[in-house]
Amino acid sequence: AVLSAATVLADSAARRPDHPALVAGPDRITYRELWDSARRYAAVLREEGVGPGDRVALLLPNTPHFPRAYYGALALGATVVPVNALLKAEEIAYVLRDSAARVLICSDALTGEGARAAEAAATPLLTVRTGGSGGSGGSGGEGCVLPLDIRAAAATPLPDPVPRAPDDIALVLYTSGTTGHPKGAMITQLNLVMNIATTVVTPFALRPDDVLLGCLPLFHTFGQVCGMGTCFSAGATLVLMERFDADAALALMAAEGCTVAMGVPTMFIGLLEAAARSPLRPPLDRAYSGGAALPVRVLEDVTRVFGCPVYEGYGLTETSPVVTFNQRPWPCRPGTVGRPIPGVTAEIADAAVAGRIELLPPGEVGEVVVRGHNVMAGYLNRPEATAEVVTDGWFRTGDLGTKDADGVLTIVDRTKDMLIRGGYNVYPREVEEVLNRHPAVAQVAVVGVPHERHGQEVCAVVVPRPGAVADADLAAGIIAWARERVAAYKYPRRVEFVASFPLGPSGKVLKRELAARYSA
Ligand code: ATP
Repeated sequence: AVLSAATVLADSAARRPDHPALVAGPDRITYRELWDSARRYAAVLREEGVGPGDRVALLLPNTPHFPRAYYGALALGATVVPVNALLKAEEIAYVLRDSAARVLICSDALTGEGARAAEAAATPLLTVRTGGSGGSGGSGGEGCVLPLDIRAAAATPLPDPVPRAPDDIALVLYTSGTTGHPKGAMITQLNLVMNIATTVVTPFALRPDDVLLGCLPLFHTFGQVCGMGTCFSAGATLVLMERFDADAALALMAAEGCTVAMGVPTMFIGLLEAAARSPLRPPLDRAYSGGAALPVRVLEDVTRVFGCPVYEGYGLTETSPVVTFNQRPWPCRPGTVGRPIPGVTAEIADAAVAGRIELLPPGEVGEVVVRGHNVMAGYLNRPEATAEVVTDGWFRTGDLGTKDADGVLTIVDRTKDMLIRGGYNVYPREVEEVLNRHPAVAQVAVVGVPHERHGQEVCAVVVPRPGAVADADLAAGIIAWARERVAAYKYPRRVEFVASFPLGPSGKVLKRELAARYSA
């Protein structure tokens, strides 16, 4: 069998050439234009000696250059290595070396770190100009390499996508590496094509007239595959935002008539706060949350304030990414992550059993394991790390969950975030759900901190609601609220107030950083 992940864009360009694929600031880019420029990027990459199977690293923010370079490289049969745009030179160089990148495509806005990394890793560098005009190197004097976008404008577009085999690697996606060096998850052509082909129908049900807010970073799997990939597959319109800002996102969604919002929970919390300050209401038809646990209170508030259902799903970089999603009909099951997408199985296994998968019956808590077309081919250059997580075709997620008799999955917590207080397991997420309902709590993260007697103590880190006075009385009130609602070993004995949370590249709360801060 042959296929190409680039056909997602090629097919929509054939079907809806004049429909806007992208909105970026004042620019509206049609499917014809986008596919044409992607094939021109492919032509330049080929001039640079890039061929099928070569790795093309991208260091690009959320601008139209991202999809141009991404689909250009895929059309050429190359493997795309999107790099987190927030990394520093040394971290980028690590990714370039580990992936043996043939070339780095870098936005001129990021060339400081990008150029240092490219030099350190001896990787050829191709820049693109963010503004589209001006920028660096526009005149292209002698000895000066012309920017990729200028060369592309003069190139002859690659005619058709280069066919690939299902097991060929389409993407290498690096995890953020909170423990040790980042690992590159190898996502095959089949992984990518199938995740998009299934999720665009179930659960997203995207239609060509949908307008999707693209505020998730495109270098991360969620924004890249679920946001950009499914949107282009449906022939819908993606409204790009370079960096998430809740007030700007609300205004943009209203101005562009966004019908679909997709984000991590912190984005929905931000949008609710923005909506409290602004009368603007976009014509949202539905919202999709993933990447971290969505507090039920937030799901209810989004439904009330924006008048649209919110569907929560679950996935990981290593599973291309979608595993499960809540689906129509609404109301579904708030607090759960729904059922597996077609072709994917998710079960609960005994986390203590190593080397083989021992499934547990419905209702029991264990490690979520996944099998199907979405499981990655492995971690690049890391057979041992791959063997730790892939057993007999099952992928061990490192997340604890339960599955009910109807096959609906609930994520209990990450194994690593669970804490043990006096011998009892405490799942922070459960305590957070309760604290999120306290009227003075805007956001909360429950973490374990070292404790002499109990081993670990439950600590609630709270972002108070605007107007709430963060003092000892409020802390005592929050503790009392929890004590009334959860077992004695679970409620926090300690409350810390912060103005905001440290966020990871995709907007998730960095709980391990919080735990470290209060463990000192
Ligand atoms: P790293 O790059 O450090 O591995 P990460 O663990 O956040 O970061 P991702 O692949 O971005 O890696 O995210 C996958 C994880 O996100 C899952 O293992 C799970 O812990 C969490 N997650 C995703 N969706 C949900 C959800 N709906 N509810 C709870 N947790 C979720």
